[in-house]
Amino acid sequence: MKAKTAKNSRKPRAPKAADITPDEATPEEERQAPRWAFPSVVRCPRCGTTDNVRYSGGKGEGVQYRRCLRATCRYRFTVKGEKVD
Ligand SMILES: [Zn+2]
Repeated sequence: MKAKTAKNSRKPRAPKAADITPDEATPEEERQAPRWAFPSVVRCPRCGTTDNVRYSGGKGEGVQYRRCLRATCRYRFTVKGEKVD
């Protein structure tokens, strides 16, 4: 369940579109591959913020690659998922 958040007309600095894989569409191959559940909020192991995005993974390998968005951090780390049927 997501908490309701008020929409700001002022957008926070958005990451470049090219840096992000679209997360919404589910390709055919992903539907047949094992599914993995990843935590929606992950803390950066380096700076401790939750301000990070997935940039790869989660398509059957059971690992999600995330990148910290903090300008002073930019740490890349992996998150292990749980297999779901
Ligand atoms: Zn960080």
